Amino acid sequence: MSASSHDPVLAVDIGGTSLRLSLINLEGLLIGDIARYDVPFAGDGAADVGGILAIMAEHVERARQIVSGELKIGVSLCGNVDLASGDAILAPNLHWRNLPFGKLVSRRFQLPVCVATDVRQAVLAEAVWGVGVNERNFAWATVGTGYGGYLFLNGRLYGGANGFAGNFGHTTYDEINGHRCGCGRRGCFETFVAGPAIARAGQAAHEAGESAILSSLTSEDKVSTRAVFRAIELGDPVAAKIVDDAIRLICINLGGVVNLLDIKLIVMGGGVTKAAPWIVERIQSDIRAYLMTVEAQRDLQVVRESTANAALWGAAAHVFAAEGLLHGAKLEEGLEHRVIRAF
Ligand SMILES: [Zn+2]
Repeated sequence: MSASSHDPVLAVDIGGTSLRLSLINLEGLLIGDIARYDVPFAGDGAADVGGILAIMAEHVERARQIVSGELKIGVSLCGNVDLASGDAILAPNLHWRNLPFGKLVSRRFQLPVCVATDVRQAVLAEAVWGVGVNERNFAWATVGTGYGGYLFLNGRLYGGANGFAGNFGHTTYDEINGHRCGCGRRGCFETFVAGPAIARAGQAAHEAGESAILSSLTSEDKVSTRAVFRAIELGDPVAAKIVDDAIRLICINLGGVVNLLDIKLIVMGGGVTKAAPWIVERIQSDIRAYLMTVEAQRDLQVVRESTANAALWGAAAHVFAAEGLLHGAKLEEGLEHRVIRAF
């Protein structure tokens, strides 16, 4: 093992709203701070690849000064990623389809890159450095711009046939009365519980004149997810009901996951759980009503992610796993952690 194997990795997490970058080392420790940017969007509504690469460039140059060997980049992306190619197959919140993002990054910076979907990266981080270290089975769930998940089963990441397993946010709740989903279908759980759904319900309450508090927090006549949570802090019962409804549906959905898999741990992250950490405690308590067995009702733990942003940490863990520096049992069966070198 060369000295450079222990260099920190430049981890990049591209969410539906925020872009975060940081240097993270083999022990899972942050080197310096986490830089945060808004994801730049182009005129056509899709996330602007050139803009994202421009943001990354500054951090790549700084990181090159710090590492002794070749810098490596780990990327976490909010969408389905082909692990072998690093292509973004479908990233609904970025409006990307079949975009060879891993190759674009690798070519631009002439550096090796690992790319995977953010939920997978988050599970990997929890399995190697976080609350999942001693667990053989657990699920990850994220509530933010989207509502997604990933699975760690029998001591390994579980991706399914194509690496897309764990999309319990895209199981259907109500395709008749539901809203159009980023995945192209209608009425997925995501369209009822994620940040935009909470904002949409707040918008409807504002337009119907149901909440003076929400209306007072509205700028340019648009209710944000953040405004709904602020209204709850100010004692608004209408805003509280909106989030109660979302919590109930998350409990139904995750309760189904527990009943299906008999797991004892669910780890939660995402922008909404960051903005309102009490949501996770509510789910930990309210989910009991939807669990089939007394064992699950007794044992299930629903907890917050171990770090400020597990997907960011996972982007680094992915690179270390690909380098063979992490425990082999954390690897996915049949799928390697690939490094993309497109230069
Ligand atoms: Zn969907």
